[in-house]
Amino acid sequence: MNLSGKKALITGGNSGIGFGIAQELSKAAATGFIVGRNSETLESAQKTLNEDFQSIECDVTDNEQLKSLFEKLEQRGGKLDVLVVNAGGAIGPGSIQPFEAFDEESHDKMVALNLRSVFFTVQKALPYLNEGASVILIASIAVHKGFPGMSVYAACKAGVRSLARTLSVELMHRGIRVNVVSPGTIDTPVFNRLGISDEEAEQAKQQFVDLIPMGRIGKPKDIGAAVCFLASDESSFMVGEEIIVDGGVVNL
Ligand code: NDP
Repeated sequence: MNLSGKKALITGGNSGIGFGIAQELSKAAATGFIVGRNSETLESAQKTLNEDFQSIECDVTDNEQLKSLFEKLEQRGGKLDVLVVNAGGAIGPGSIQPFEAFDEESHDKMVALNLRSVFFTVQKALPYLNEGASVILIASIAVHKGFPGMSVYAACKAGVRSLARTLSVELMHRGIRVNVVSPGTIDTPVFNRLGISDEEAEQAKQQFVDLIPMGRIGKPKDIGAAVCFLASDESSFMVGEEIIVDGGVVNL
């Protein structure tokens, strides 16, 4: 895939899937920006990428920070051809729990990160997207399958999937395509951010891996490859679509 000349921004590009996406985009000769909150992982991720990637700190759940993110981006070199909205996940204690146990605070925190921030990241990015840009939203196979404890997460990701359809129609006049990549279980630090012990995290991961017909956990670069395709002109007739990358969990 040759993405030479394309400028990309990846939210959550400093860890896991987002970093894998940034690496694949960088290999395909794209340039751009990775965005996250953790300055240490931002710095180390940026060092590993080619020097044409810069890092910017931003909490994507804060609309003021999102606004200033895109202002900084314009100052540092112009508009985007590729926007990957990846930051998210079941982060922190209480993010996965039985439906009846969810309190308002845990619910609202999950929605703020996994749905609201996606909505406003794209909205605030709009003035900074080139004609014909590709917007890629990272959802999850939780859109398609019920997993215990994931009521809020799955509802948010289903909202992200739906958003891609409406945005595709509304942004068609600018030639902007919005598509979704839905990962299955991918080996990332997210399992250590659930707010449970390392041993419990390993067990949780293994339970998901046991469901995968291909018998292996996914790698961030598996998602990066799908994103590169959607970012490229090779996918120019795809819009409002979803690519599921899950080793067969949903369809087999
Ligand atoms: P990681 O925990 O490795 O990465 C999450 C990323 O999101 C980090 O870069 C983190 O940056 C960023 N992030 C979280 N909160 C914020 C915030 N408020 N503002 C800015 N950045 C933020 O998880 P994954 O790589 O696994 O997850 C990436 C995406 O993939 C998520 O949307 C997740 O739901 C989805 N996904 C993951 C699956 C998996 O099995 N791993 C399966 C299906 C979907 P920082 O550390 O700086 O906060």
